[in-house]
Amino acid sequence: MFLKGKSAIVTGSTSGIGLAIARALAAEGASVMLNGFGEADAIETIRAELAAASGAEALHDGADMTKPEQIAAMVDRAHAAWGGPDIVVNNAGIQYVSGIADFPPEKWDAILAINLTSVFHMMRAAVPHMRARGWGRIVSTASAHSLVASPNKSAYVAAKHGLVGLTKTVALETATDGITVNCISPGYVWTPLVESQIPDTMKARGMTREQVMNDVLLAAQPTKEFVTPEQIAAFALFLCREEAKAITGANLSADGGWTAA
Ligand code: NAD
Repeated sequence: MFLKGKSAIVTGSTSGIGLAIARALAAEGASVMLNGFGEADAIETIRAELAAASGAEALHDGADMTKPEQIAAMVDRAHAAWGGPDIVVNNAGIQYVSGIADFPPEKWDAILAINLTSVFHMMRAAVPHMRARGWGRIVSTASAHSLVASPNKSAYVAAKHGLVGLTKTVALETATDGITVNCISPGYVWTPLVESQIPDTMKARGMTREQVMNDVLLAAQPTKEFVTPEQIAAFALFLCREEAKAITGANLSADGGWTAA
């Protein structure tokens, strides 16, 4: 359990990739602050599962990633409970699929706020605590869309490209502080986020569900397989190891070969 005594905040960890990352960190002994929306009973079940797995405390904070003061309060809460946070995983994200002419401005604002600006607020609040302890790991879930575009995803592609620039900048600022800052960029991972964009993509492209699965989603991925949340979690966990201390400012792909094409 190499993370015993360490604490982590994982945003957007009530579902999908974030939940898998929270489970992986807890399995190595970290105290984990879950974050994200969902049914209270389901969240409590996850929280209790993580506490049992880690042998440490697990908490849930419902901070809305569009609200800077709630992000800062969540960091304060983790600091008061455990010191740190030693590890921050910026993972909360949403998607909206539409051509530019019809793209609702409020969806642009929400995607930029949750997928990009929240990471600025999180790093701004957490980096001083990491500096004080001389150790830190910041991992953000970017996307293959941080490297390449797809039509009808203007806000998401812009936010994910921006996240890589933010990551590189903070990596340089913290390079001599024992802190690493990296992005993991998955291809398509089978989670509720992907499942829920299928109807919109069907509408935007005039396709059947099967056509979206094969001709849009898996068409991009040479392996013809979805990436799994557990594969991304194992990758994030590796970045928290001492052996990974030279990896900083990187945007690391786990996309089944998508961005090699
Ligand atoms: P998901 O929909 O399963 O989970 C998203 C999580 O974010 C949930 O816990 C949700 O409650 C939380 N969330 C949403 N809005 C929030 C807000 N305002 N405040 C706090 N939490 C909020 O999605 P996922 O597929 O697991 O995606 C996680 C991350 O991975 C996202 O950043 C996404 O862009 C990225 N990603 C996903 C894929 C994929 O194919 N699924 C691929 C590349 C990157």
